Amino acid sequence: MSDDRTTDDERATNPERVADCLFCRIIAGELSATTVAEDDAMLAIRDIAPRAPTHILLLPKRHIGSAAQLTAADARLVGAIFAQAADIARAEGIAEAGYRIVTNVGRWGGQTVDHLHFHLMGGRPFEWPPG
Ligand code: 5GP
Ligand code: ZN
Repeated sequence: MSDDRTTDDERATNPERVADCLFCRIIAGELSATTVAEDDAMLAIRDIAPRAPTHILLLPKRHIGSAAQLTAADARLVGAIFAQAADIARAEGIAEAGYRIVTNVGRWGGQTVDHLHFHLMGGRPFEWPPG
């Protein structure tokens, strides 16, 4: 998804990028973040305001607004992100105790950045249901 403010240069590197999107800017390298893992389709970074000892965000590089915009054509992408999350959880040492993967959708879902991301959180116990 591109909009009118996306330049030709930006389209050349990521045709799906959205100019004002915070996570598109991190993916483009315009804003810094601590990278945990990366491949052609996804980037995993440490959350800037961690709510748990391990708090990592997994982002598709292609701009997708939220889980509400996913389609069956994204099945491989989502599967790959969850496989990355499991690998990262093992590498972070949180796999054995257990952890949480969550994606927030929309205002009542608590979404504050409109670029699909999965929170991988661990290192402490979580309550259910979340607040
Ligand atoms: P949401 O509220 O949309 O589910 O999650 C957005 C997450 O992005 C929040 O946990 C927030 O702390 C994180 N975040 C916001 N701005 C930045 C940033 O500039 N860099 C990083 N690494 N995380 C950010
Ligand atoms: Zn984006």
